[in-house]
Amino acid sequence: MEIKIERARAEQLKPKPADESRLGFGDIFTDHIFLMDYEKGKGWFSPRIVPYTNLSIDPAAMVLHYGQEVFEGLKAYGGKDGAIYLFRARENFKRLNRSARRLCIPEIDAELAMDGLRQLIVIDREWVPRTPGTSLYIRPNIIATEPHLGVRPSNTYLFYIIIGPVGAYYKEGLNPVKIYVEDKYIRAAPGGTGEAKTAGNYAASLLAAEEAKEKGFTQVLWLDAVERKYVEEVGTMNMFFVIQDEVITAPLSGSILPGITRDSVIHMVKDWGMKMSERSLAIDEVIDAAQSGALKEAFGTGTAAVISPVGEITYKGKAYVVAGGKMGELSQRLYNEIVAIQYAQKEDPYGWREKIA
Ligand SMILES: *Cc1c(COP(=O)(O)O)cnc(C)c1O
Repeated sequence: MEIKIERARAEQLKPKPADESRLGFGDIFTDHIFLMDYEKGKGWFSPRIVPYTNLSIDPAAMVLHYGQEVFEGLKAYGGKDGAIYLFRARENFKRLNRSARRLCIPEIDAELAMDGLRQLIVIDREWVPRTPGTSLYIRPNIIATEPHLGVRPSNTYLFYIIIGPVGAYYKEGLNPVKIYVEDKYIRAAPGGTGEAKTAGNYAASLLAAEEAKEKGFTQVLWLDAVERKYVEEVGTMNMFFVIQDEVITAPLSGSILPGITRDSVIHMVKDWGMKMSERSLAIDEVIDAAQSGALKEAFGTGTAAVISPVGEITYKGKAYVVAGGKMGELSQRLYNEIVAIQYAQKEDPYGWREKIA
């Protein structure tokens, strides 16, 4: 399928951010958008890149009533050599399709989506920020657009990709966060939609996050929905714990988002000859280890922050300091290594980086 391109006219072009060092996250989008439509019986059609625009959808569009939606989050990086790179982007479109299956949304052609993304970035390449730590955030989204009230899968969909420059996640070094172990609310139950990147999961997480914020915490650490016993993940990150010489993360049991950063970390930790376990980890084991000094590090992983060290864990009203409240050695090594691959500052031994322009 050929991707039609309509370029923005000079008067449609937006001003670019004046000061890249002050970029935030998720508020600025480029001059173009990639779109593609779906109709039952016809499949996906009309892939196109057009000037960035509002969407026009019927107020009865099913996504607005029944939440039939899936999305992705990835980045393009301005390399040291001036080129633009993606990091494991195909994995994001594969995951988008897995999420889509769970939400009864028709799958997209991942190669076509990759092609659309590459062309979109090339057209808007002047928007890729160059200040260290900044990047171009990429948000693919599929929404159910059929105007119909009544719960069933929609017969029409819209797939689109928007992109925009984002700031360095860490402006003054990697600051360890304080996390709150949530033992009242849950994020996702077995058999639910926890392993899909779909809007409803995030809407359902807001109240717990707000209450934790009021108490002075940055993130909520979710426990499993059945027993409130095993650690699952935090906010929009997977969690890793280092207990003695074992690096532990929760297994992909269906209620956890299969993070691509998580997968990269597992790969590297194994590659470095360390003991890497994907296993159930009870919060009591974490707390015991924190008390005895066996808990060496804890950190979250995700596209936005790469590695987010945890400096303090609060469970049942008691706070436990982790790694002296500082960034641990493994956290730092993983961060440095992944970022160096993403920004083409070193060889990529894993074949994760792709030059697109
Ligand atoms: C996106 C996301 C992650 C991290 O996934 P990455 O592919 O590493 O960015 C982890 N948990 C949740 C709930 C997420 O939405």
